[in-house]
Amino acid sequence: MELDTTDLKVMGAVKKGLTTFGAIKSGVHLKKDELVKILDILDNSEMITSTTGTGFLGQKKLIIDLTGKGEERIQEYLEVLRVKWKEMIDLAIAGERDQLDQIIADNPYMVNMMVFFGVTDLPTLSRLNLRFLLEGKHLCYKCKKELKGLMQKFSVSDVRKFNFKLPRGMTTRDDLCADCFNKLTR
Ligand SMILES: [Zn+2]
Repeated sequence: MELDTTDLKVMGAVKKGLTTFGAIKSGVHLKKDELVKILDILDNSEMITSTTGTGFLGQKKLIIDLTGKGEERIQEYLEVLRVKWKEMIDLAIAGERDQLDQIIADNPYMVNMMVFFGVTDLPTLSRLNLRFLLEGKHLCYKCKKELKGLMQKFSVSDVRKFNFKLPRGMTTRDDLCADCFNKLTR
């Protein structure tokens, strides 16, 4: 059974000690029916067990645990992430931006998962100028400030339109914030 990223994230949450339905739901930011579906898949593939415990106020609650098989699957996945992260650091140091972009295009949430599982962290990504690899965050190519919905963004074609010098390594997938765009020269 192939598990997808969210399945693995749920298992990771359990491994981190979130063992009740509510704790996993808020830890992984899932809707109730989504989590029910995933727990069902994980249960059927013998990755988790669920038992009913009694909560603080005597209410019934679901307690989720990883099975031995589930624990093994997570360790395997962590190893894959660690190897991949080393590869990505090498690519970053070598300036192989295209290859890094390709890795993320093939597996958009990989770096998010690395952060989730503690294989890397945000300060390290910032230090290596790799925050752009985080899916779901759109950052200014130069200053790495987050480009929120209503903020002005400037693309490669804007830079060309004004005959400005294109920042080194900037591609059509990148954008600049207004501040950085205004600082460009011809
Ligand atoms: Zn900027």
